[in-house]
Amino acid sequence: MLPSVKLYGARRCQAKSRRSGTQCKNPAAYGQKACRFHGAHRSVTKFLGRHNPAYKHGKETNKARSERRERIKELQELENAGRQLGIIGGTKTRGRKVK
Ligand SMILES: [Zn+2]
Repeated sequence: MLPSVKLYGARRCQAKSRRSGTQCKNPAAYGQKACRFHGAHRSVTKFLGRHNPAYKHGKETNKARSERRERIKELQELENAGRQLGIIGGTKTRGRKVK
C-alpha cells in the first residue's frame, strides 16, 4: 500500500481484482472513485457532446452522402470538360472516380 493511503488516509481506489477479489491498493485519483489504472479521468478529457465518437451530427446520412456524391460527380464532369477544351491545366484531381 502506498504511504499516502497508509499515513494520510487518502481515498483508496474502489476497483476490485477479478482474480483475487481484493481491493486495489492504489489511492483514488483526485475527486474520483478509481485510480488511474482503473478508469479514472478528469471530466475535461472525457469526449463529451460533439467530441464523442458516437455523436450523431447528420453529415453522414445516406441522403447527405448521395448529395455529396452528386456534387463531386458534377465537379469531375466540369473538370473533364475543362481539360478537353484546354481551359484547365495542371495536375488532375486525385482519387477514384465517382460512378
Ligand atoms: Zn485501482
